[in-house]
Amino acid sequence: MPAMPDSLWAATAPPGPETPPLESDAAADMAVVGAGYTGLSAALHLARAGRRVLVLDAGEPGWGCSGRNGGQVNPGGMKMLPDDVVAALGPVWGERFLEFGDRSCDLVFELIERYGIECEALRPGYVQGGYGAKGRRFNEEWARQWAARGREARFLERDEVAALIGTRRYDSGMYDARGGNVQPLAYARGLARAAISEGAVVHGASAATAISRDGAGWSVRTERASVRCECVVLATNGYTGGLWPGLRETVVPVASFVTATAPLGHNVLPTVLPGRHAVSETARIIVYYRLDRHGRFIIGGRGPWFEVTDRGDAPQVRAAALALFPQLEGVEWEYQWAGWPAITRDHLPRLFALDRGVYAGLGYNGRGVASATLMGRQLAGTILGDCEPLVEVRASDRFTFHRFRQIGISYHMLTGRLLDRLDRRGAA
Ligand SMILES: Cc1cc2nc3c(=O)[nH]c(=O)nc-3n(C[C@H](O)[C@H](O)[C@H](O)COP(=O)(O)OP(=O)(O)OC[C@H]3O[C@@H](n4cnc5c(N)ncnc54)[C@H](O)[C@@H]3O)c2cc1C
Repeated sequence: MPAMPDSLWAATAPPGPETPPLESDAAADMAVVGAGYTGLSAALHLARAGRRVLVLDAGEPGWGCSGRNGGQVNPGGMKMLPDDVVAALGPVWGERFLEFGDRSCDLVFELIERYGIECEALRPGYVQGGYGAKGRRFNEEWARQWAARGREARFLERDEVAALIGTRRYDSGMYDARGGNVQPLAYARGLARAAISEGAVVHGASAATAISRDGAGWSVRTERASVRCECVVLATNGYTGGLWPGLRETVVPVASFVTATAPLGHNVLPTVLPGRHAVSETARIIVYYRLDRHGRFIIGGRGPWFEVTDRGDAPQVRAAALALFPQLEGVEWEYQWAGWPAITRDHLPRLFALDRGVYAGLGYNGRGVASATLMGRQLAGTILGDCEPLVEVRASDRFTFHRFRQIGISYHMLTGRLLDRLDRRGAA
């Protein structure tokens, strides 16, 4: 079984449930491949509806991005402005998707409460720092457009954002009450326990190696055994391989890094994120940061984009931390790790019906704590036909030049950094 990366989350999460490998052939109504938030939430909701569900993961619950992310429960479910979502998806699916983004945050905290998941959940709100005139416009529009939809979001002037989060680095800000933080691996393990408590069976160290038709249903094979089922849910996101033809080509995995300090001393702690908000930025290449329960400063972002290892590569992200909070100079950095979120063509998540009884949900563009949780519910609802569809079900949507994705990512990072620098200089 692939080892869990050595992260702050792995060091501090409560142990997960027992998930032994699948050793002999089994039958279920639904087989779910991937035990991250998408797969576990789908399994939980399908099992709660009385279906026999069997989950397979190559590692263990939370082994992928779900156990490695920054733990920010981001409001809205995507980085786009509401009006841009409606322009991209049209009035019907656009408005439904805004509902998706909205409900996804609530669902995370509802599940945590309902199943008593111990994951350091906190909902102090989300703050977005903005650079220059462009950042200001975005923050103003976010606050205006979400407030017009009845959500608690407000624009912050430079002094207000500094007072709220403790850095004077931003020219403007935005506060959105819907956001919060969780210990992401603890949340994933808690979802696994919840799914099991509803009757789902979860197997770790059980990579699915092939899917084939079996009578009216399907057979999912692992190295040692196979599962006969009516329906298959693929929930492999940035770790999607060649299991289903063409699925890998619908997303581009992009490495993301997180690094965490030792608990901050009493002289520094009160000056950094005093309200414990989840914070991110309006720039093209962003960092996002928060504190944990013990007062560790945790910051994530993009580093170099070649030869990424599971340990990540933190210098750029740590430099950004010091630019934001110079008082962190000399603080010990205890952990660093990396993972592979999945990007889609239009930066919006995807729900695919790939064949009769075969579904996939993926592509959260780095904002999956909330979105993947609700995608699991949407996948279950699509199969059961019992929920209001908030994401359009598609057959496929591949990147045209997927094999050249590394060049595309490099170009995006390079131009993104340059344009961000110009924006910031324009702001000075
Ligand atoms: C460093 C980092 C920071 C992030 N920060 C945030 C954040 O602060 N807020 C936020 O909202 N989002 C964040 N994200 C994104 C978020 O973590 C993901 O969008 C979300 O976890 C996706 O969940 P998932 O269940 O779809 O996929 P994953 O959690 O990646 O799960 C996929 C699973 O599929 C399994 N798998 C793959 N192939 C097979 C196979 N053949 N057989 C069996 N199992 C298989 C893998 O083992 C893995 O466990 C971050 C991501 C990273 C990497």
